[in-house]
Amino acid sequence: MNFVKYILLFLVFISCASKRGTIIAHRGASGYLPEHTLEGVAMAHSWNIDYIEPDIVMTKDNRLVVLHDIHLDTTTNVAAVFPNRKRSDGRFYAIDFKLDEIKKLKVHERIDLKTQKQYYPNRFMKEKKYFRVPTLSEFIEFVQGLNRTRSKKIGIYPEIKSPEFHKKEGKDITKKVVALLRAYGYDKEGQKIFIQCFYPPTLKRLKVEFKVKMPLVLLIADNSWNESSIDYDYYQTEEGLKEVSKYVEGVGPWMNQLYKVENDEGEKRIVKTNFVEWAHKHGLKVHPYTHRLDALPDGFRTSKELLDFMFGYLKIDGIFSDFADTVVNYYEGS
Ligand code: CA
Repeated sequence: MNFVKYILLFLVFISCASKRGTIIAHRGASGYLPEHTLEGVAMAHSWNIDYIEPDIVMTKDNRLVVLHDIHLDTTTNVAAVFPNRKRSDGRFYAIDFKLDEIKKLKVHERIDLKTQKQYYPNRFMKEKKYFRVPTLSEFIEFVQGLNRTRSKKIGIYPEIKSPEFHKKEGKDITKKVVALLRAYGYDKEGQKIFIQCFYPPTLKRLKVEFKVKMPLVLLIADNSWNESSIDYDYYQTEEGLKEVSKYVEGVGPWMNQLYKVENDEGEKRIVKTNFVEWAHKHGLKVHPYTHRLDALPDGFRTSKELLDFMFGYLKIDGIFSDFADTVVNYYEGS
């Protein structure tokens, strides 16, 4: 088992008293309950984590809702409730619906539209539709309420979704998000928040035009996903990371951008890229996405192997996890 040997080599690099990394509950407790539901937020809040993530999109009547996609059809029953409201591409867009209409929908576990099967087969049953789409205000008040009753200070890690798409639809999502976060007191020193986005011009605008004090994180996609018009290869070079360090505090790479699996005469070998080293050299925190027990990235057989590599060897600063409780347990040894 040469593969094991290589993994063990990485373990040599783990420092004995490594500080706990930042643990971000990705889309709530999405490994256990449908993503972006208040029920999931309650579950995630019960863990000893640092942040809970809401993704944000805008409605037709300019309200901010917590939803991962600009579409409603992968996680709600919109097709059954409003069958005639799809666009010519067959998709149902949140931006075509008013908030009171979105509130009529039931949220379910994420499905693959083509097969109509749930994306992660062993997660919450997709047929069970107990849940609703929360607004960003409801999400924030829920977290703040739980912080109060549980004497905790769990932060929020909002993502501004698809600013280019929103702009094309005549909506300034960024302006709206800043106003709301300020109304809830997050744009002050010492608040527990990061704002994330896949689109560098939005992050620059937050710093230059809105002069936010809230720390910012650039998410780095793979160009093949067509996430935006940005060339993400550039942001995986030292030059790109240096440039971005002028206006953001951290980067959120895809985990697979931090290493390569090489095939060395039939043996698998994990080799790190220079990404984390370059990011740290330019003062950037590194919070990769996404740790999933039911979808470990290529080259890793267990969650522990992956976390040892990421935290112990690469020295990442934090991680997005669908199973954030297991990252807490990784540190607390249970
Ligand atoms: Ca996100």
